[in-house]
Amino acid sequence: MIHDPRAETLDRAAREALQLERLRATLAWAVERVTFHRARLAGLRLDSLADLAGLPLMRKSDLREHYPFGLFAVERRELARIHASSGTKGKPTVVGYTAGDLDVWREVMARAMTAAGCRAGETLHVAFGYGLFTGGLGFHDGAERLGMAVVPVSSGNTARHILLLQDFRPAGFCATPSFALHIAETLEQQGGDPRGLGLRYGMYGAEPWTEGMRTALERAFGCPAYDVYGLSEIIGPGVAGECEAREGLHIADDHFLPEVVDPASGAVLPPGREGELVLTSLTKRAIPMIRYRTGDITTLTDTPCRCGRTTARMARVKGRSDDMLIIKGVNLYPSEVEATLLDVEELVPHYQLVVDRSGTLARLEVQVEPATAVVERCGGFDPRHPTLVALHRRVGERLSKAIGLSVELTLVAPRTVPRSEGKAVRVVEKG
Ligand SMILES: [Zn+2]
Repeated sequence: MIHDPRAETLDRAAREALQLERLRATLAWAVERVTFHRARLAGLRLDSLADLAGLPLMRKSDLREHYPFGLFAVERRELARIHASSGTKGKPTVVGYTAGDLDVWREVMARAMTAAGCRAGETLHVAFGYGLFTGGLGFHDGAERLGMAVVPVSSGNTARHILLLQDFRPAGFCATPSFALHIAETLEQQGGDPRGLGLRYGMYGAEPWTEGMRTALERAFGCPAYDVYGLSEIIGPGVAGECEAREGLHIADDHFLPEVVDPASGAVLPPGREGELVLTSLTKRAIPMIRYRTGDITTLTDTPCRCGRTTARMARVKGRSDDMLIIKGVNLYPSEVEATLLDVEELVPHYQLVVDRSGTLARLEVQVEPATAVVERCGGFDPRHPTLVALHRRVGERLSKAIGLSVELTLVAPRTVPRSEGKAVRVVEKG
């Protein structure tokens, strides 16, 4: 089922014509209303979509430097909502929405959620955080737009999630992948069965995750896991989402124009080439974003999808450009380690990368837990037990082969890798 067949199945010529028209309007709006854009873009002309590549890129630091409202294109009284990032690296990044912007957000969320199986009359359990973070309210508003009943539980408080999931029996569930697995694991420890919750679909996002994580989530809950992508600087969740084909995420590209650039040079890369996703808002009024570097590493494809939607699609995000580790000269994303670890049934899907920069070259230690059943078979956790020694060797070899780098692998005792009730912390610095 397609939420808005007219917008989601436009043929290429009609889509590009609409994008160019909206891009020109956005540029004019930004130049007229925002000093920052006027200084960079005044006098520029767009004869085709390809001319976009000649415009300067925006970064997260531009938002911080114009804190709080310097990039806003509307008066304060025209705003309907303000969100902000957590601001762990200094001042938060602040984003605003007009009533019309919120309407676009609800609509693109409704598209992504319909693609994942959400239907009017069903109940959705929201385990994304509510508040300044856009995750909770994004799914909440999208579900209401679809005519669903929303249970706005928010993140944290695992016990309450379990109680409500068991007693309300929602059709759908949404969370960060790591928090979802934590809920499943906790329920299992209480003797319950997450598959018995009767969930029919799960929607996951807000942190990069892999096909291995998808398998783990689907095994845990016994229902399909869909990837929903977004970021508050562009609108929040709903920029893109997977359909039943699950061969990339459909981008709402009548509202957000995607490009992929070389993270080092900023040069635009052709479809199929991996690089950093750059997005331009096409309809947003409160805070137009022109060529915004998302930091997310992905590839684009414009080949037709068997679901019938004709939008551009992006591959699931491999990682964030600032999460990339350089270990002994090799570029590595935590998701590449995850892909190998989650493929091993004798391990639980919780892991952590410990980076030690005390020497001249950074060293990487990968910590992962053996599955409870394996530990029980060994009569307790003892890394010297032959079964665990063999497991350690096998996983170590697979990991080194997969990432082209010899890493220090440590099997740690059950429940020692920190569990997340929000976004998982995959990489920690030693010392
Ligand atoms: Zn599709």
